Amino acid sequence: MIDRKIVVVATGGTIAMKYDAASGGLVPACTGEDLAAAVPGLSETAPLEFVQFSNIASPAMTPEIMWRLHLSIRQLLAREDVAGVIVTHGTDTLEETSFFLDLLHAGPKPVVTTAAMRGAGEVSPDGPMNILCAVRTAASDEARGLGVLVCMNETLHAPADVMKTHSANPDTFQSPWWGPVGYVDSDRIVIRRRPLRPAPLAPDSLTARVDIIKAMTGSGREYIDFAVAQGCRGIVIEGFGRGNIPAPMVPGIRDAVAAGVAVVITTRTPGGRVLDVYGYPGSVTDARAAGAAMGGEISAAKARLKLMLALSEKPGLARDRDALERLLDV
Ligand code: ASP
Repeated sequence: MIDRKIVVVATGGTIAMKYDAASGGLVPACTGEDLAAAVPGLSETAPLEFVQFSNIASPAMTPEIMWRLHLSIRQLLAREDVAGVIVTHGTDTLEETSFFLDLLHAGPKPVVTTAAMRGAGEVSPDGPMNILCAVRTAASDEARGLGVLVCMNETLHAPADVMKTHSANPDTFQSPWWGPVGYVDSDRIVIRRRPLRPAPLAPDSLTARVDIIKAMTGSGREYIDFAVAQGCRGIVIEGFGRGNIPAPMVPGIRDAVAAGVAVVITTRTPGGRVLDVYGYPGSVTDARAAGAAMGGEISAAKARLKLMLALSEKPGLARDRDALERLLDV
């Protein structure tokens, strides 16, 4: 048992839901305190404090709510009597909120995010074990200095690598190609690799809108023009394979970049970098010639959040493609 507190910040998600006959489905029903009360042995790990930040399903999460969550967590971590924070969340967008928080996280204190695939009232819910593992991780020396960790199914993942891979299976969270950071064993937290953690981003507020456009076979430039007309400061295009896209999108990229909008190309494959290895129309070489930046390995959803934070901090990045490519590489 450690002396300092672990704060349980509850945001909602299936972990806090129960079946509701009136709506015919799972709905938010439990507070963070209710969840903790259902976990035997939890209070023997650390003194706990509870913050009911929200009680929403995670498809309702927005970058603005993530920003407010970051501010709340930063305040909690600044307290001498707090050793770490856990965040309970829905699984649908867990990887996004975790990544967003990690990009902004400074200092050694752990933040551990967790969730559940089964509701609190279902047979064999996974929430109680996930909460216990998250609190044990946040209270451990092993997790110090690792930033935000995603704790699901007794496994610890780096937010940059992890993704929900199955819509229903409790073992849904995987880190394709890189693997987990470690795991929660019955006697201790086992860390097997340290995630690369570039210096945290530090905008004063979240001001830049960035949208994602998924390339389709047959895509044209219409959605790019629409995003620019909506006032986006950045556009993330999710391309195919190495990042290649249909050629009719490229003139839209050229005009968007000329208008001062950052255009970043990502790939829909779960692993591997975007790279300008082809020379055909619509290739990454062609999109780069029109001004697009290559988005490295991260998913479009994560590249979008990183770009929102980076452009909010330094709007001039939109005109510095080399800096954007360095930023998005890790
Ligand atoms: N739809 C739910 C949510 O993300 C799924 C879950 O939590 O597992 O809020």
